[in-house]
Amino acid sequence: MAQVKSIKGTHDILPNQTKDWQELEMQVHKTSNLYGYSEIRTPIIETASLFNRGVGEETDIVSKEMYSWEDKDKSIISLRPELTAPVVRSYIQHNLGGQSPLQRLYYIGPSFRRERPQKGRQRQFHQFGVEAIGSANPEQDAEVISLGWDILKSFGIKSLKLKLSSIGSKSCRENFKSELVKYLNPFIPKLSEVSQRRLEKNPLRILDTKNKDEIEIVKSAPKIEQFYTKDDQNYFFSVQKFLNDLEIPFKIDPLLVRGLDYYTQTTFEICSENLGAQDALLGGGRYNGLVGSLGGKDAPAVGFAAGMERVIIAAKNRKKISPKIPTIYAICTNDEAMGILQNSAKQLRSIGYKVICETLRRSMRSQMRDANKSNADYVMIIGDDEFNSRTIQLKDLKNGEQEKVDLEKIISYFKSLTF
Ligand code: AMP
Repeated sequence: MAQVKSIKGTHDILPNQTKDWQELEMQVHKTSNLYGYSEIRTPIIETASLFNRGVGEETDIVSKEMYSWEDKDKSIISLRPELTAPVVRSYIQHNLGGQSPLQRLYYIGPSFRRERPQKGRQRQFHQFGVEAIGSANPEQDAEVISLGWDILKSFGIKSLKLKLSSIGSKSCRENFKSELVKYLNPFIPKLSEVSQRRLEKNPLRILDTKNKDEIEIVKSAPKIEQFYTKDDQNYFFSVQKFLNDLEIPFKIDPLLVRGLDYYTQTTFEICSENLGAQDALLGGGRYNGLVGSLGGKDAPAVGFAAGMERVIIAAKNRKKISPKIPTIYAICTNDEAMGILQNSAKQLRSIGYKVICETLRRSMRSQMRDANKSNADYVMIIGDDEFNSRTIQLKDLKNGEQEKVDLEKIISYFKSLTF
């Protein structure tokens, strides 16, 4: 019969890869908690209109890449393409703002976008991220950036680069947009089809072009900083000052525009040299307009989302951080003794040992071969002799030493060992 394969752009995370994922998740939980952030988990499916309103109908994410379908009750449902809009929906729905003037939230989970699959770009991918909802002050932006920076560092990524920009307030952006369009209009015949469309719908995104000819055109375009108001300027300077105080190096990149519509003021991206073309590990910024536009009471907010697949690729050569758990391989060649062995294994696990029990009833030789392969520290063996004398044979696989221990003493024996 024909095999069923996974869907294009989706990937299994196999047993030899999940350790990295667990360690990354552990670092996200640990570091976020150290900063006083609490985890929030929202559903993978949401009403499509959440993203139409929250991300923007004219963005690629919503217009081209969202998986949506009509449900039996005729409502349109989508697989979430990102988590900021769902987190804000939940914040409004459960009145989290009423519980505390500042909500510091973080999340981990899958997102779905129907993009052209390539290295570092999948149709189901995973993100972790944070949203700090309630503070309009620049120290909040610096805190969020610092948290993202610390998570990536703590996971062992060395070559991190922070790019920083500000897209100013709404009025600044409107003025900039119209000047940019004026500047680009004479170049329309030279622009790609995509950029021509963007010129009408979302001209700022042309600044992000990867097309060589367009990069040249964009070089001489008006710059956003020419349109900052005094407040925009002061805000941006303060964020930079706090980052200096935190000793986080950054480079100002005026061409950094985020793909999503709800950003205001600060935008940032953290990249890694260890990646190819898709080098952005994490992207974020301030989005003061989103809570209000999703029907909540206006609340300023700042956050980021990081791509976990990319973070894991970028950390390929990191030093592993998880401590080694002492491991025992439990061998049994007497079927009647199987229960005794399993009970001893259970007790040893309760004092912190990892114990792998043989359940294939193989020969002593093949069980030993597996024990050596499993990188165990010890094997414990119950054969006929041991079963009859209520003992267990122990072998230290590091030095080959062997001894017989009374069954009753096995727990105290292992308790006394230090690793
Ligand atoms: P965004 O929500 O577009 O700001 O993306 C935030 C981060 O998610 C990016 O910096 C990437 O690391 C990651 N990301 C976005 N889209 C994909 C994708 N299709 N596949 C893998 N990672 C992605």
